[in-house]
Amino acid sequence: MNSSQRILIVGGGFGGVFTALELAGDAEVTLVAPDDYFLCTPLLYEYLSREVEAWHIAPPFKELLDDKVRFIRGEVTEIDFSAREATIKGRTRRAGYDVLVLAVGGTTNYFGTEGAEEYAIPFRRLPDADRLRQRMIDTLDRIAPDSDAQDARAQATFAVIGGGASGAETASKMGDLLNDAFRRRGLPGVPRVMLIEMGNRIVPGMGDDLHDYVEHSLRESGVEIHTNTRVNRVTESSIVFEHGGREEEIETAGVVWTGGVRVAPLVEDLALKRDDRNKIIIHNTLQTQSYAEVFALGDIALYTNADAKLSGTAQLAFQQSSLAGTNIKAFLKGEELQTRYLRVQGEAVSLGTENAAVETAGQIVHGTLARQARFALYTTRLPTWHHRLRVGASWFFGGTLPRPLGL
Ligand SMILES: Cc1cc2nc3c(=O)[nH]c(=O)nc-3n(C[C@H](O)[C@H](O)[C@H](O)COP(=O)(O)OP(=O)(O)OC[C@H]3O[C@@H](n4cnc5c(N)ncnc54)[C@H](O)[C@@H]3O)c2cc1C
Repeated sequence: MNSSQRILIVGGGFGGVFTALELAGDAEVTLVAPDDYFLCTPLLYEYLSREVEAWHIAPPFKELLDDKVRFIRGEVTEIDFSAREATIKGRTRRAGYDVLVLAVGGTTNYFGTEGAEEYAIPFRRLPDADRLRQRMIDTLDRIAPDSDAQDARAQATFAVIGGGASGAETASKMGDLLNDAFRRRGLPGVPRVMLIEMGNRIVPGMGDDLHDYVEHSLRESGVEIHTNTRVNRVTESSIVFEHGGREEEIETAGVVWTGGVRVAPLVEDLALKRDDRNKIIIHNTLQTQSYAEVFALGDIALYTNADAKLSGTAQLAFQQSSLAGTNIKAFLKGEELQTRYLRVQGEAVSLGTENAAVETAGQIVHGTLARQARFALYTTRLPTWHHRLRVGASWFFGGTLPRPLGL
């Protein structure tokens, strides 16, 4: 391996950034991503409530990667695997590579639901959380303190579509934030947050004990849980849903879509072997089946050498990035590549602004202690020691209290 070998990493999320940090200094590493910052997605809920600030969870690449990794802000639109070159939107010169790492992650899947892409708010990026927070504030600002309780509730009706972990965590945060705002503003009655799930159970991937606790906690936050309910249409101010064969329309102030994930569009255009969900089929070494010098990881890769529950998680991309670093170094030196079975390292769920649940080794801890443990856990999932220390100190000395809506 020599320092003039070129490693091109496409994507600046958990897979891409941690792989870049593993390889920095060992070769000529370039990272391409459309945003100029990393995002620690598991803390996006806390950004919605402003328990954390943007700089905590979205550090800029120029701060994380220093001069050992070249960062190009842009979107890769095409890859020529024979010429070993990638096209970056708006640039005439293509980026060449000796090793390519694909880590472009997922994007919101609306499953073709009428009006969803146009009117629902996705929840994957910082601007999504800003948009949702602003929508809640604007809604509250429109409610007159002397309106009757039923009117206030109708005006403050929000629907979260998709009852997986992300939907449950978003809905519980919204429930707590809106209830708190109603109290502070002296509004009559209570707001309404609906969590709508097509299947017969929310958080289907979680074990029974954790599931039951999440459901209990959602109800404490005033969230209505609607299972076996399918949303057929989203409009600017309503949703149309079906339950037990009956269709109903209700007025909404905002609809959040956490109903599904699909691979980033780039992957759908690549001439690589994929499964029926468009995930790239890879070997246990993370290499693609067609090209030994092309590695894929994270949400876009079908990696079977891991606990099934890890699929589509930051935990998986994070663990894979360490394997990617080891294997890319070996590949460039002509050495044998490794395989590694990857395991679930526990589960941590954000529940409202004062609670969380953490499951490790079959034990569930909840309450304030679990909330602190979750913050501590994610401090260790932030890139670089320098950033972890800055954030850890800020949370320790400054606290992590939510900022009320509109204040
Ligand atoms: C709100 C939310 C909360 C979550 N909470 C948890 C949690 O608590 N625990 C957990 O384990 N997982 C969680 N996840 C899942 C986790 O975020 C993903 O599994 C993980 O980020 C996957 O890493 P990745 O590198 O594959 O993709 P990502 O982290 O999504 O990164 C993909 C990167 O590729 C870039 N990109 C996309 N297309 C292109 C292109 N054409 N050219 C260049 N760059 C491109 C993107 O901009 C991004 O930088 C959560 C996800 C969300 C959205």
